Amino acid sequence: MYFPIGRNVPCPYEKIMAKIRILPDRVANQIAAGEVVERPAAVVKELIENSIDAGAQKIEIEFRNGGKSYLRVEDDGCGMNPDQALLCLERHATSKIRKASDLDEIQTFGFRGEALPSISSVSRFTLRTRTEENSEGNEILINGGKMIHVKECGMPVGTRIEVAYLFNSVPGRRKFLKTEVTESSHIIHLAKLYALAHPGITFSLIDGSRTLFRSPACEDLLDRVREIFGKSLAECLAPIEIESGGMNLGGLLGKPGYSRPTRKEMLFYVNRRPVESKTMSYALLEAYHTYAPKGRFPPAVLFLSLDSSLVDVNIHPAKRELRFREEIKVRGFLIDSILHAIKQISGEKMVESKAIELERDSHSGQMVPKIDDRLLDRYKPVHSPHPIPGVADLKPELDFSNKVKTKTLSDETPPADSNQGGLAEKSDPRPVVGLRGDMNVTWRLIDRSHGNMALFSTPQGLVVGHSRSACETIRFEGLKAAFVTTRKASSQSLLLSDSLELDGAESAYLQKCIPQLGEIGFAIEEFGRNFFRMQACPTWLEPEKAHTFLRDFLEIASDSGGESKIEIYVKEAMVRQATKNIGSHESFSEDEIIRLSNQLLACRNPYTCPQGRPIYYELPLRDFENRFQRKL
Ligand code: ADP
Ligand code: MG
Repeated sequence: MYFPIGRNVPCPYEKIMAKIRILPDRVANQIAAGEVVERPAAVVKELIENSIDAGAQKIEIEFRNGGKSYLRVEDDGCGMNPDQALLCLERHATSKIRKASDLDEIQTFGFRGEALPSISSVSRFTLRTRTEENSEGNEILINGGKMIHVKECGMPVGTRIEVAYLFNSVPGRRKFLKTEVTESSHIIHLAKLYALAHPGITFSLIDGSRTLFRSPACEDLLDRVREIFGKSLAECLAPIEIESGGMNLGGLLGKPGYSRPTRKEMLFYVNRRPVESKTMSYALLEAYHTYAPKGRFPPAVLFLSLDSSLVDVNIHPAKRELRFREEIKVRGFLIDSILHAIKQISGEKMVESKAIELERDSHSGQMVPKIDDRLLDRYKPVHSPHPIPGVADLKPELDFSNKVKTKTLSDETPPADSNQGGLAEKSDPRPVVGLRGDMNVTWRLIDRSHGNMALFSTPQGLVVGHSRSACETIRFEGLKAAFVTTRKASSQSLLLSDSLELDGAESAYLQKCIPQLGEIGFAIEEFGRNFFRMQACPTWLEPEKAHTFLRDFLEIASDSGGESKIEIYVKEAMVRQATKNIGSHESFSEDEIIRLSNQLLACRNPYTCPQGRPIYYELPLRDFENRFQRKL
């Protein structure tokens, strides 16, 4: 306790000590209310949780003035008989735990028996409740902790709690409440959180006379997202379900390429309880590292289930915070599961990573990824494309086995079936890019007049792509695929060994990881203080690029302290390699764009570039129809 010190300041010590006493329940409840119900949304939370614990199939929530003047939560759960109804308003009265050891295995939301007495001590509180065994319900009215009346009332089975004039009796707390808009938004967010976690319960949310959402029980979580958050969020989420080591991660995860400006749609649950978990949000962001641009956030609704004895929820009365008993294990499981799920969603598993063949572009004479000639022949632009000078060295160089297959388009006779295939109308002269799995999905190139921007028309709307990012991604994935397939053993000797002079830190790090680099195909030896010689490099690396690659690798490793696995630095160095030497340029030619886009769609992750920025995005027809306010 703090006592002011000063000559003329009377010390209240004696006065306080002389009157030590146990606080009356009402005051104790009002103090506890400060912790349990700091704002109207917290009241709503406690009441919704009680309704779910009571086995409700239907929950209706109504609020007025951001919940400051009125709140109602009504359910069709088991209700309470008259004795229980009175008892539940006593402090520490709970039907949910009996002994301290039950705390280790909490299955219900509530367990403290604090919410109802706290709320009723700081509001005008009306409880109406009825069980199936009782023909009448019971109504209890409490004002600021004082019982006003208890009487019978007619009502269906269930419980209805109204909370009016919250904190009116505690002006000190009331002044901390924010504006009506802010308090409303907290209530809405909270109701959505619980509705998402319980799609089997019908939820309604009403603001005054306006119904904000009414979501009937649904089997599918995605349906619930569509109903309460809208179609556009539902479209960018995909379901996931992963189980390992006694833990399960389910829910919905943002498809790579979709991101949000805030964390608002990163929703986490542990054992169906909504939580704000640093561990979970860290794992999500870490896993999306290269899939979402910097400063943007992946949408996700993630449910982690694990043995309740491994989670400590009893660290704060509001129970929003939680602690994992095996933090590191949980984090590892989350990152691995999310990464696995992202790959599945983006089709990484389904698209075979085959070696990319190159061919010579007839216009620029450069090697570019080979695509189905039918596409080019059939949908050749009406005007022959003029390659822009200077784009020559922009093309992905992806043949890591050095077996370059050379051919020009003019050498090729179109295949016999070149008039079939249903890729697009033959009469349409616009170039078309194919196919990610579906033969009918076509992108028709419309325009490429703005630098790297390429505009395509698709059956679903328009696609705007960034050609240079596409090029970087193709290079990066090519390197990665070659690295994975040739990983061990395959090494190529350099004609002339390459020497490197390093600074102290880099030199120490290189010394340490020479054996590991050896495993992936580098033969390096030290031949003097801070001097090294490279005699061989992996086959996935072009010999003339091995020197810069190794320098990049060392720079990245020493910048980040050299603590991580070398694979991580190798990957970062690949990113640099893939994005290097794509000099400044005006634009890619139409043929080049078709090649790049076609190749891109065969990539494992065609949505984001190696640095995590989007490569293309779609403008669905629906957006245009919304703008035009009519069908197209
Ligand atoms: P806790 O939820 O921690 O047990 P509360 O103060 O929220 O504490 O509730 C006290 C008790 O009142 C609960 O344990 C439960 O038995 C009963 N109760 C509260 N709300 C409801 C409800 N909506 N339906 C049925 N019983 C309820
Ligand atoms: Mg409760």
